[in-house]
Amino acid sequence: MKRAILFRCREDRAIHCFTCSFKCELRPGETGKCGVRSNIGGDLIQNYYGIISKVALKKGVSIGLTDDEGMWCVVGTVGCNFKCPSCRYGDFAYENLLDYRNREITLPDKLIEDMKIKGIKKVAFGFNEPFIQIEYVIDTLSIAKREGFETAILTNGFFTKDAFELVNPYVDRYVVYVKAFTSHSFKLYTGNTWRSDLVFENILVLKDRNCRFDIATILVSGVNDSVFEIRSVARWILFNLGSDFVWHIYPFKPTNRFFVYPPMSRDKILKALDIAVSEGLTRIYLH
Ligand code: SF4
Repeated sequence: MKRAILFRCREDRAIHCFTCSFKCELRPGETGKCGVRSNIGGDLIQNYYGIISKVALKKGVSIGLTDDEGMWCVVGTVGCNFKCPSCRYGDFAYENLLDYRNREITLPDKLIEDMKIKGIKKVAFGFNEPFIQIEYVIDTLSIAKREGFETAILTNGFFTKDAFELVNPYVDRYVVYVKAFTSHSFKLYTGNTWRSDLVFENILVLKDRNCRFDIATILVSGVNDSVFEIRSVARWILFNLGSDFVWHIYPFKPTNRFFVYPPMSRDKILKALDIAVSEGLTRIYLH
C-alpha cells in the first residue's frame, strides 16, 4: 500500500483521481475502475504498490519497439483500467486481483538491482496498464534512468496529461496499443469505454512533445477487424503521423483461459496489410 499521487480531495471526503482518463470520483470505501486505487478515509491509496505479476524477457521489436533487436525486461504489475475480454493477462489485470494482494513486494531499487545483476539494461512496463501504477512506475524508472537503462512504457493510451507529464521524464519510448477506432468497436474491445478519441488525442500529445513512440494493434475477429476499422486507423496514422510511420499489427491468439474469440487467421492479417497499404502507409509490421 502507498499513498497515491494525482488526486484531489473534496469537502465531502470524496476523491477525484486524475491518473487515467476515467477520472473516477470515489466516495470513502470505493475503488476505481482500475481495481487498485481506493478512497480510504478520504485519502487515495494505491493498494498494490510493488506487487509484480509477471516478468518476461522480450525482443524489442516483438513488443512494438520498431528497429530494436535488443532484449527488454517487461514488467507487469496488477490491475487495469480496461476490461478487455480478449486480454491474455486478465488474471492479474482485472479478474483475480485479490489473489495478488498479499504477495511479496518488490521495491523499485531491488527490481533494478536484480536486472543489473542479470546484465539487463532495458526495462519496460507492460502486460497490464502501467499508468494506473504510476507511483511504482515513476519510482522504478527514475532509478533505471540513473543506472543508465533504456526505458519504455507499453500503454493503452488512456492516461491523463497530468500523468504523462510526471512519467515522461523517465521514459525513452512508448508503444501505444490502439484497440480500435470507432466508439462501438472500442467499447466492444475494452469492455468498459467507448472513448477511443481520448487515445488518439494522447497520441498527438506524444507527437507534439517529440516523444519516441510506436503504434500497435491486436486484431480480434469480429471486434476491430472490419475494413472500416482498419481503413480508419490507417487513415488517421497517414494524416497525423505520415505515410512512413510504423504500424505494428498482431493477430489475436487465444490462450488456454480465453475462448471468447477465435484465433485471427493469417488471411485476415494479410487483408489488413493490403488495406493499410492501399491507404498509403508504407511501413506495416506484421507479427
Ligand atoms: S487510475 Fe483511472 S481507473 Fe483508477 S481510480 Fe484513477 S481514474 Fe479511476
